Amino acid sequence: MAKKEAKPRKFQAIRGTRDLLPPETALWNRVEQTAHEVFATFGFGEIRPPIVESTELFARAVGGETDIVSKEMYTFEPKLEFFRENFRSVDEAMQSEGRLVRALELVAVFSENLTSALQLKQMAENRETVEAAEALEKLVIESIERRNAGESQPDDNWRALLNRAEQLLWSVDLGGRESLRPEGTAGVCRAYIEHNMQQLPQPVKLYYIGPMFRRERPQKGRYRQFYQIGAEILGGPDAPAIDAELIEMLMTFFEKLKLQGVELAINSIGCPQCRPKYVHALREKLLEFRDRLGEDSRRRIETNPLRVLDSKLTSEQEIIALLPKIADYLCEDCRAHYEAVKHQLELRGVIYRENWRLVRGLDYYMRTTFEITAQGLGSQNAVCGGGRYDGLVELLGGPPTKGIGFAIGEDRLILSIQESGKGAAPQGRAVYIAWMGERAYATAIRAAKDLRKAGFRVELPPTELRFGKALERASKLGSRFALILGDNEVADGQWTLKTLADGSQQKLTEQALLEYLLKV
Ligand code: ATP
Ligand code: MG
Repeated sequence: MAKKEAKPRKFQAIRGTRDLLPPETALWNRVEQTAHEVFATFGFGEIRPPIVESTELFARAVGGETDIVSKEMYTFEPKLEFFRENFRSVDEAMQSEGRLVRALELVAVFSENLTSALQLKQMAENRETVEAAEALEKLVIESIERRNAGESQPDDNWRALLNRAEQLLWSVDLGGRESLRPEGTAGVCRAYIEHNMQQLPQPVKLYYIGPMFRRERPQKGRYRQFYQIGAEILGGPDAPAIDAELIEMLMTFFEKLKLQGVELAINSIGCPQCRPKYVHALREKLLEFRDRLGEDSRRRIETNPLRVLDSKLTSEQEIIALLPKIADYLCEDCRAHYEAVKHQLELRGVIYRENWRLVRGLDYYMRTTFEITAQGLGSQNAVCGGGRYDGLVELLGGPPTKGIGFAIGEDRLILSIQESGKGAAPQGRAVYIAWMGERAYATAIRAAKDLRKAGFRVELPPTELRFGKALERASKLGSRFALILGDNEVADGQWTLKTLADGSQQKLTEQALLEYLLKV
């Protein structure tokens, strides 16, 4: 019986991702263009690191205990890894004939994939791997023969065979696992080290623009593929002016975009010398209130008490207000640095608010931290987070290097601009050319060429339309003007220009028309 033809599947963008479409993409371009311009005036150069990097890099740089690494990363497990992970144990396979068969099937599929990966040169051909592949192939043949001979009850022979198979499975080096980047700093620091940028004049100032990936629950202002605009300053001295100038650059960028309701919050989270004392005091105090805390915060008393300060639970706010403040624990150097950063911000006319609850949970983050919020975003109102991370480059195997940076959530930035009504594209210089007749068409093509050269956005219908129809299209497309070219116009050298907003018409020579359009 012939199968009924299946209806072609309707594809949709996957959860948490979306298409950015015109006219909105014009706003995205405007925002990115502004970033290129403003950052260049502060001496930053663009870096475009790859979107996939080794999982290990992110685990180190972002921190294995963070949500980002522990549950939000898009990680590629090679196909082979999947089959290996599913081969649970020999003991399990020995429990019944059914489980034995499943285990053997996994080994067979693994073996097949391994052999073809080697043939296709998808894997490094080292001796161990090649030997394991051959041995596995033999083993699979042996087990199939045994099963065909009716030996399918798990027994000692099977156990020995499975043990050998398991050993071989795990002897293969499947190569490092790779992940889609969940943030940009790790890749930039990796590149700084890889390209020996410490030999360039310091500090090195870099910025990036591009998509990041985190598998979190999608909601307004929170996506699984989202975009960040970020900058990093690596190397150079300890000067507080570096921190202040980076923040000044950010505020200049937001000002240029006319972002509304911008609030800058700053804090210092000390350094490895003074922070542990604070964390200790915080933990002691939290233990006193343990019973009144939620489950997450209770867990964090041990794992990462600083993160409790982040809590948005209404029931915990009263308690948090009673907790010790880091400002009282900063060492002399950190205190002086923080005071100097604030002074430097004032010199630059940057308005800030201090927020002692602003923290970063990772060890190598130190001293200056900051966050910027904007209006129109509901609870996802942070458009930018940043801070100093002097230990990171060294942690990734580079030389001791100072570092500070920020990451702007571009999706949220754009949402906020749209909500404040500042996102509309500036009225385009759009001209629709309505033509009728062969001679008029030749002139229309030439007119289109000249107008485009002068920077106008021109629509030239590809087939002849009656003028009424053409004008209808023009207003649907939002054109500002319609240039009407019929055989009469071409013969007289007097072209008709219609302003669509008020319907007014004028006759102009080609030259006068171009001059007129350039002026309006
Ligand atoms: P949040 O607390 O909102 O989850 P975060 O601390 O995870 O933010 P960072 O890792 O500091 O954020 O990233 C910097 C900026 O990137 C954030 O301030 C935000 O604007 C944006 N951002 C982070 N995650 C997302 C996401 N899933 N979708 C859209 N923007 C995001
Ligand atoms: Mg987050």
